[in-house]
Amino acid sequence: MTTDTPSLPVRVRFAPSPTGPLHLGNARIAVANHLFRLKTKGALILRIEDTDAERFDPNSEKLIINGLKWLGISPDEGPGLGGNFAPYRQGERNNIHKKTAENLLNDGFCFKCFCSDAELEDERKNAMAMGIAPRYLGKCRDLTESEIIANGDKPFTIRFNVKKAQAGREIVIKDLVHKRVAFPTNAFGDFVILRADGSAVYNFSSVVDDHLMGITHVIRGEDHLPNTPRQVLVYKALKARPPTFAHLPLLLTSSGKKLKKREGKTPNLEDLRVMGYTHDAILNYLASMGNPTFNAKEILSADAIAKKFEIERLGRGAVKVDMEKLKWINRRHIRGLGSDELTEMIRPFLQTAVLDDDESNIKDFVVAIRENISLLTDSAKYVPIFFKHLPPMNDEAKEVL
Ligand code: GLU
Repeated sequence: MTTDTPSLPVRVRFAPSPTGPLHLGNARIAVANHLFRLKTKGALILRIEDTDAERFDPNSEKLIINGLKWLGISPDEGPGLGGNFAPYRQGERNNIHKKTAENLLNDGFCFKCFCSDAELEDERKNAMAMGIAPRYLGKCRDLTESEIIANGDKPFTIRFNVKKAQAGREIVIKDLVHKRVAFPTNAFGDFVILRADGSAVYNFSSVVDDHLMGITHVIRGEDHLPNTPRQVLVYKALKARPPTFAHLPLLLTSSGKKLKKREGKTPNLEDLRVMGYTHDAILNYLASMGNPTFNAKEILSADAIAKKFEIERLGRGAVKVDMEKLKWINRRHIRGLGSDELTEMIRPFLQTAVLDDDESNIKDFVVAIRENISLLTDSAKYVPIFFKHLPPMNDEAKEVL
């Protein structure tokens, strides 16, 4: 399927795990999905992948939704928005995941695994000691009915029977960015799809939901490329056609490290908003990364960028976040804004005493500083020069600012 002549109406999804605020890498994936959906006049679905209780952060769903809104990305379906395929939080779809696993169990594509954590750990250590890649050796794959019954109330996970689903020596993935990627079928063992507590594991829940939600294109980070062969096997077991994949290279920090949600010097989306970056500058910068059809030398609307967006032409190499370039784009954007629009953008960064002043003074101030600021927050340092008649800021006000 090409991007220009899709045979089905395009449905893409942004599927973040609620484990912290959006970092630029996540935001870039959201932007790519958004541009693709605009270009193809398709639908964008927001799905919250909250099946990993250990990494769950209760504040992040709100941060994610607000972050998307701030960037001007409005999903067509998602939590709080509804849609034909609700619910859109995976935690609320557990019955669907369990039912699907049960069907696969009946078809022999899955089996119950009673191995304890300690047994699996031993298996792992032995493999390491022998210098081979650890993988599940299939102890419970062929248990008889009476052996299963003999396990009584022992907790069990549900594993996917890789041997049953695989055919041939390779699993080939057609990817719009990476073109053809082949994985040897013996690269992994039978993987867990349902944990002992009944919750679904990512490689399973994401396929079940992408399939049921009619997703035609999966556009996500390259870190998920190694998961894709497992997912393709799950599609096969479900007798479903896999979507078209596009794995985008990861963003790196300026020193070449992986971006993390909670650490590192590279600010996340919320930090950037507070620092005084405009949402259009960020969207333009993210859209320009590794993109030969758009270099962000001029600030365009998402619709205009989308018209020239060709996902197949995105670069395959990792891209470093360049804060200087982002600041330069921000400066250009600010300079190009009309005085009314810029005034509204700067207003949240001004202290009350300034906001209480005459509206015409505020506008004159904005027009006068427009050429001199790179960030909306830079406006603060010009306040004492322009508003000499106002009382000086005390330390507390400075701190708040
Ligand atoms: N929930 C995954 C993540 O946040 C994304 C999964 C996907 O796009 O398939 O990394």
